[in-house]
Amino acid sequence: MIPRLPGPLVLVGLGGLGTPAAAALVQAGARHLRLIDDDHVELSNLPRQPLYGTDDLGRLKVDAAADRLRAAANDAGLALEIIPSRLGPDNADTLLGDAVAILDGTDGVTSKLLLNEAAIRHHIPLVHAGAVGTDGQLVTILPGETACVRCLFPDLRETDELATCQQSGILGPVVGAIGLRMAAEALAIAAGRRPELAGRLAMLDGVRLRWRTIELRRNPRCPTCA
Ligand SMILES: [Zn+2]
Repeated sequence: MIPRLPGPLVLVGLGGLGTPAAAALVQAGARHLRLIDDDHVELSNLPRQPLYGTDDLGRLKVDAAADRLRAAANDAGLALEIIPSRLGPDNADTLLGDAVAILDGTDGVTSKLLLNEAAIRHHIPLVHAGAVGTDGQLVTILPGETACVRCLFPDLRETDELATCQQSGILGPVVGAIGLRMAAEALAIAAGRRPELAGRLAMLDGVRLRWRTIELRRNPRCPTCA
């Protein structure tokens, strides 16, 4: 049971990670979500983004996702905030500052660092995730307590774009599994429990279907959270 929350669970990116996470949150009873994405549904999205169908091609992802989530909730109690914008430095504080938790379903270094910095600045738990090829990973950051994204990659620059799923391909079941665990982490936060992956990086090998988890240490010289 999820108590009434003081703010939304914020999903940034409604792609392969964000759509299974959003569906799982609503099915588990989350009733206040903010969906942020400025992309439109494309044919190549359909195999791994379960909220969209062929009728949605060309629509804004936030609109198509909202229709499906409202149908899944099957009642009037679902508060959905639809933000068809790209998250950037100019709107991050407004869109993230009141979040109960932030779920990172984005693809790219710039947005991941931006989310990390905003989460630390506003002291909001961040469920950070990524997937490329047949591998996926996630970790929950509790600001002031656990390692942040910068602690892990102190030298990462915004120009160091990692291989993205557009370049490397991606396995649908891997993002689905990572997305579901993202939802489980956010639900634990919403219920006032400590998320299982607070400060622990879970990595999924999608070929062997094996999870591995490692403890993360804070970096005392981290430029973001130290
Ligand atoms: Zn840090």
